[in-house]
Amino acid sequence: MKTVVIATGNAHKAEEFNRLAEAFSLSEVRFVSAKDALPDGMPRVVEDAGTFVGNARLKARALRERVPAEFFVLADDSGLCVDALGGAPGVETAYYAGPSATAAENRAKLLAALEGVPAEKRGAHFVCLLLLIAPDGSERVFEGKCEGVITRAEAGTGGFGYDPVFAPHGFSATFAELGAEEKDRLSHRGNAFARLAAFFGTGADAA
Ligand code: IMP
Repeated sequence: MKTVVIATGNAHKAEEFNRLAEAFSLSEVRFVSAKDALPDGMPRVVEDAGTFVGNARLKARALRERVPAEFFVLADDSGLCVDALGGAPGVETAYYAGPSATAAENRAKLLAALEGVPAEKRGAHFVCLLLLIAPDGSERVFEGKCEGVITRAEAGTGGFGYDPVFAPHGFSATFAELGAEEKDRLSHRGNAFARLAAFFGTGADAA
């Protein structure tokens, strides 16, 4: 059994990883959040690398020093890139409406920024960057994307973050309306996780 400690203080992300591990039948891999693995939880990290992979590396390395050497460490850095905003908020997604903004405030700012933007120009994609540090210190990156559009108004109560304003391609419903299973099948995190699962299914013993 391999233990992977997830470098996040975000309970929603940890929940999605556990759900994905179950969906991919990774029975030999146990995911534990930093919050549950460490008495002080996830250490505070200033995410100022300027790239998804750089921020994921900062989080993973901050945690690496604190968990037992035989554990893997996995960090997720993710965000939303909106075409009409030149790719913003991107790495600033979590802080779009300010350093201590709530998810609702971030969504409100995004909808306001796209006020009057026509349907065909509301394209956006989520990015998920997973950075895994193995017990031997080697690092691997797994990336996932999900293309879609920013809706005109919020819809749905599921998920977290920007889910109520993001409809994946081919769907008029938002992630918040689609339900967990469908989101995992389509999402940036689901995509990145599929690559991680393939690694654990094939090459992790060599790590
Ligand atoms: P991070 O925790 O620094 O990676 O910030 C990620 C930001 O993107 C947060 O504002 C999240 O709410 C948002 N985000 C990441 N993944 C998702 C998702 O699956 N659905 C909705 N929002 C997401």
